[in-house]
Amino acid sequence: MASSHTVLMRLVASAYSIAQKAGTIVRRVIAEGDLGIVEKTCATDLQTKADRLAQMSICSSLARKFPKLTIIGEEDLPFEEVDQELIEDGQWEEILQQPCPSQYSAIKEEDLVVWVDPLDGTKEYTEGLLDNVTVLIGIAYEGKAIAGVINQPYYNYQNNEKQKLREHKNEAKAGPNATLGRTIWGVLGLGAFGFQLKEAPAGKHIITTTRSHNNKLVTDCVTAMNPDDVLRVGGAGNKIIQLIEGKASAYVFASPGCKKWDTCAPEVILHAVGGKLTDIHGNALQYNKEVKHMNSAGVLATLRNYDYYASRVPESVKNVLVP
Ligand code: AMP
Ligand code: MG
Ligand code: MG
Repeated sequence: MASSHTVLMRLVASAYSIAQKAGTIVRRVIAEGDLGIVEKTCATDLQTKADRLAQMSICSSLARKFPKLTIIGEEDLPFEEVDQELIEDGQWEEILQQPCPSQYSAIKEEDLVVWVDPLDGTKEYTEGLLDNVTVLIGIAYEGKAIAGVINQPYYNYQNNEKQKLREHKNEAKAGPNATLGRTIWGVLGLGAFGFQLKEAPAGKHIITTTRSHNNKLVTDCVTAMNPDDVLRVGGAGNKIIQLIEGKASAYVFASPGCKKWDTCAPEVILHAVGGKLTDIHGNALQYNKEVKHMNSAGVLATLRNYDYYASRVPESVKNVLVP
């Protein structure tokens, strides 16, 4: 029997469950202790067993259910039969209960492009900065990012550690939300869910930027924003979460290096709550299947006050970063 739900909402509901499964894989690889680290282009561009297994799981699970999708994953993997144990068949019921925005109700499977970052923040993952890590599944239609899922496998990780300390000292009881991991999802025109939207401190310029891929261009651009504070953390997904949870006021990355699979899902979540993500010149990013993967002109993202940050990008930085 044909489903009464639209293709888009079925895809988002499946992507939610699939991202959760990938999050369990990311945790399992750490628990087993063998990260299987491979250098891709250089020592700060890494791939681990978790990146490989999570991508196999996500892409195969999506392709089985939605065979006409275009799926673009970060990792270059040899074709091999995927272990049934890696396949996730579930779909998140709460998403199926939501209405599909009318402008997307007639979308066909073959019209959608899915951008998959199976593990964003790999460098930090290898260094034990586990709460920087996210799993990103972004969905694009006619070149525009319209839906996305972010799983954060180690959400509450630090809280749990602190909580253990507190318990040890016989102080406060467990916090209100001590489950390890969470999943955030969103669709343009519907909203973003799975977190509490919070504003950054008013009047402060708190910039979040790269920790592992810094260079002079990045620093010049951040300095020009007149920051009150600069947070250097891993992951594009993690930095967008900082924006929507009020920890940072702008994500500034004036450098090539970040790819379409890094920005697709995070961009949707930010746009769904009224924020803005562009390249450093202010151009919207394109996500059609033919587009080049690299975000060559960097990333500028804010929840509020986008114009202030855009107006501060130095011409010298713009001149080097060609879209
Ligand atoms: P970061 O803010 O450094 O965590 O970067 C965000 C995303 O872009 C991560 O997936 C990084 O792997 C990727 N990225 C940024 N710069 C580079 C680079 N120079 N080489 C490889 N990947 C990069
Ligand atoms: Mg990434
Ligand atoms: Mg990755």
